[in-house]
Amino acid sequence: MATSPIWASRQKTRRMVLELIRAARTISRVELATTSGLTAPTISEVVRELMANGLVIEAGRGASTGGKPPTLLQLNPLGRYSVGVQLERNTCVIVIVDLAGRPAARASFHGVALMPPQQALAQVASRVNALLATAAVDRDKVLGVGLVSYGPQNLHAGVLLTPQPTDEWLDYSVAPRLAEQLGLPVLLDNDATAAAIGEYWMGGVDPHSTYGCIYMATGIGGGVVVAGEVYRGSSSNTVEIGHISIDVNGDECPCGNRGCLENYAGPSAVVRQALTAPGLAQRLALDPAATDVLTEFGRIAAAANAGDPAARSLIEGSARHLGCAVVTMTTLFDLDLVVLAGPSFAVAGSIYQALIQQEVDRRTFARRAHPVLVVPSVSGSDAAAIGAAVLVLQSELTGGHARPAHHLQGSSRPSHLPPSGA
Ligand SMILES: [Zn+2]
Repeated sequence: MATSPIWASRQKTRRMVLELIRAARTISRVELATTSGLTAPTISEVVRELMANGLVIEAGRGASTGGKPPTLLQLNPLGRYSVGVQLERNTCVIVIVDLAGRPAARASFHGVALMPPQQALAQVASRVNALLATAAVDRDKVLGVGLVSYGPQNLHAGVLLTPQPTDEWLDYSVAPRLAEQLGLPVLLDNDATAAAIGEYWMGGVDPHSTYGCIYMATGIGGGVVVAGEVYRGSSSNTVEIGHISIDVNGDECPCGNRGCLENYAGPSAVVRQALTAPGLAQRLALDPAATDVLTEFGRIAAAANAGDPAARSLIEGSARHLGCAVVTMTTLFDLDLVVLAGPSFAVAGSIYQALIQQEVDRRTFARRAHPVLVVPSVSGSDAAAIGAAVLVLQSELTGGHARPAHHLQGSSRPSHLPPSGA
């Protein structure tokens, strides 16, 4: 369907006003006009339309500046929802968030990526449906599903470009197939990118900050955000900090590079080291087959917290290696802030935070120009899933990263807004 220039410009105005309301939390019509540069009648008309669509509600009165106190507006949190799915080798987390980005329901389960893709996606779809039903969320109010996973990916085709965990996943159309199963639009993205942008949307960082995010689940990923815009590079396969080489003669990594950081600092590496450390595996009752890497890693992290010297030394070794990677990231991108997100920081996050901060303070190139702060994510272990849901809100509502989501062929998807990216 062709889109007229007037329609496109109205849509742009709506998206801008929505984004201003979202960012301000509460704002008056007068403030909206001042901030946007639009006229008062235009603001009134756009706000009326947004209220009629259930996207915006009135939220009491603000402070008087002489005359009658102005009516404040805010997003209607219950007006729309989105679903975030974080899918990886050892764990799958599903969250439903409301329009304000607040989690409304959550579920998690194990090991879905060890199944063939068609079986795994059927299970994800049935879990999403069950969670929507349990949370009593009206399906017509669901904007879509953000599916996030490891890379590399072809984001536009909705395809993973890696034979992990098995060859069947390489080039498999994960996003289009999940859209087909759910009858909802699905967009694919990188888990670390989602965690990074989620932090901004959830108000965890200064909106003007240039910050990075280290996301650690089974693997290690990264993302960089500049003034609210995630750095996407040529193909959205950016800041893959787990796959920078720290040993030119190191072992070959499944990614094709040699001596990758992930193979020294990641949870699998730590579990591997623990299994060969004298007495540690027995003491912590580690599974010699290490089938569930995250659980085994959690045990080692808990022992490190409790003061077990051998476990502590392994976690510190991982943190120092990660610190070196964070220094690389801060030096490349001149960051103010680094956020640590993902399930593998859940237990021993404070050890990681302290040691990475030390490395950054000592070694970052611009350390005399400005401080670089290392902080835990406001969304903790679920940062990627929440970020995935946020990517949908952002793409659908503000057009911030508008790109084609994968739709069910011929679906009669309810139209909440004019088509994105028009
Ligand atoms: Zn690699």
